Amino acid sequence: MQIQNYINGQFVNPISDSWLDNYNPANGEVYGKIPNSDIADVEKAIEAAELAFKNWSKITLEERGQILLKISELILANLQSLAEAESKDNGKPVSLAKEVDIPRAASNFKYFANAITQFSSEAHESIGHNAVNFTLREPLGVVGCISPWNLPLYLFTWKIAPAIAAGNCVIAKPSEVTPATAFLLAEICKEAGLPNGVLNIIHGLGSTTGQAIVAHQKIKAISFTGGTKTGAHIAKVAAPMFKKLSLELGGKNPNIIFADCDYDKMLATTVRSSFANQGQICLCGSRIFVEHKIYEKFKTDFIQKVSELKVGHPSKEETQIGALVSQQHLEKVKSYIDIAEKEGGKILYGGNKVEVANFENGYYLQPTIIEVNSNQCKLNQEEIFGPVVTIMRFETDKQAIELANDTKYGLSATLWTNNLNRTMQFSKQLKTGIVWVNTWMLRDLRTPFGGQKESGVGREGGFEALRFFTEQKNLCIKYN
Ligand code: NAD
Repeated sequence: MQIQNYINGQFVNPISDSWLDNYNPANGEVYGKIPNSDIADVEKAIEAAELAFKNWSKITLEERGQILLKISELILANLQSLAEAESKDNGKPVSLAKEVDIPRAASNFKYFANAITQFSSEAHESIGHNAVNFTLREPLGVVGCISPWNLPLYLFTWKIAPAIAAGNCVIAKPSEVTPATAFLLAEICKEAGLPNGVLNIIHGLGSTTGQAIVAHQKIKAISFTGGTKTGAHIAKVAAPMFKKLSLELGGKNPNIIFADCDYDKMLATTVRSSFANQGQICLCGSRIFVEHKIYEKFKTDFIQKVSELKVGHPSKEETQIGALVSQQHLEKVKSYIDIAEKEGGKILYGGNKVEVANFENGYYLQPTIIEVNSNQCKLNQEEIFGPVVTIMRFETDKQAIELANDTKYGLSATLWTNNLNRTMQFSKQLKTGIVWVNTWMLRDLRTPFGGQKESGVGREGGFEALRFFTEQKNLCIKYN
C-alpha cells in the first residue's frame, strides 16, 4: 500500500519525496511506503486549513453534523476492509478490529455529530447591575491531533471528530507505525463531502513531522495520545507558545480482586483486561492484586484460562492474540520478561516468542504471567505495554489501596467486589482518572476520559472534548 499525505482534499507525495517502510507485523515484511514528511508538508497543510476555517467555522451545526454522520456511515459500510487494513498494519486480530476498533471509529463521528447540537454555554445575570453575561464558545482555528499505534483509527477519530464538530480545521498525524487506516479515512472524508482543508493528514516520524506540528506557531492546540516521555517533551515545546494541550499518556493500571466478587465474571474479564490487543491498550490491567483468601485458586484458574488463548495469524478467525506491533516493541516487551527473575519475579506462564507456522518472522509472543512479591520491581513500576501481567497477593483493604496507588501513573483501575462500602472507599481513594467496578473498558462516550499524575493532563470525551476544542469568551452587556 502506497500511502500519501492528504492536504487540501488532495492526495499528495511528500515534498521531499522521502519515504519510510511500513511493516506487516504478522510476517515481518515491508508491505508499503509512507511519506516521511517534514515541516514543508506541514506548512502546506496549515495554509489549507487556515483557508478552510473561514467557511467551516461558520456553516450551521446541522450541516457539520450531517457530514460527520456521513463519515460515520461510510466507516461502517467499509467495516471489513478497514478491519483488514488495521489488522495488517498493527498485528491485531481482524475479529478484534471488526468488533471494537472500526465500529468505535464510526461511533466517534456519530457521537460528536449529535453532541455538537446539544453543546451549550452559560449565562449569568448580574442582578443589581443591570447587566447580563453570556459565554461564547468559539472554535480555536487550526489544531493538531497526534495519535499512537495501539488503537489506530479508534484514537485518531476520537480526536478529529470533536475538533471538526466544534468548527476547527485539523492537521492530524497518525503513528508512523500504523498509518493505513488514517489514509483510508481520508478517502472516506472526501466521499462524505468534508470540504477541502478541514482535515489534513500528514504522515511521518514523531521527531520530524510530529515535532513540526507541535512547534508551529499557527497551531493553537495539540491533542496528543502516546507515551508519557513524548507527552512531557510536547508540553515543553508547546508551553512557551501557550498552546492548549490535552495529553493522554501511559498507564500501569491495577486490577484489584477481592474474594467477595463474582468470580467467574471476574476471571473471564481479567483474561481480557490483561491480554486484549496483545496487552497493548493503555487501559489494560497489568498489575493484578488478589486478596490472599482466593490467591492460590485464582493463580491456578488464571494460568489455565490464559493457556487456552490462541496465539496466531491475525486473519484467522480463531486467533485471540495476534502479533505485537513491531520488532522493536517485541524486543522491548521481551526485555522485561528477561529481567523478571532478577527482579524477584517468577514466570508462571508464557515468556517466550511464538513461531507461527508459515509466518516465522512475525512478532508473536506468548501471553505471560509473572508472580511478583513487591510492587517496587521494574515489572510493576514501568509500562511494558504488551501481553505481560504480574500477579501479587494482598491481605487488607488498606494494603490494596496503597499498592494500587504506588506508581507514577494514574490512568485507570479495576475493582472486583460486591461490597458497596468497599466500592466507595476505593473509588474515592484511588488516584486514577477512571475506576471500573466489576467490569472493564465499558465506555460511555459522554464521560470524561483521561488520567491523573503522569498519565496525562486534561480530559477527552463528551462535552469535555468540545470544551477543549473551543475558546470561551465572556460577553457582558449593560442595559438601562
Ligand atoms: P509515542 O509517544 O511514541 O508516539 C505517539 C505519537 O506521537 C506518534 O504519532 C508519534 O509519531 C508521535 N510523536 C513522537 N515523538 C513526537 C514529538 N517529539 N513531537 C510530536 N509527536 C511525536 O507512543 P506510542 O508508542 O505510539 O504509543 C504507546 C503509548 O501510548 C503508551 O505509553 C500508551 O500507554 C499510550 N496510550 C495512551 C492512551 C491514553 O488514552 N491515555 C491511549 C493509547 C495509548
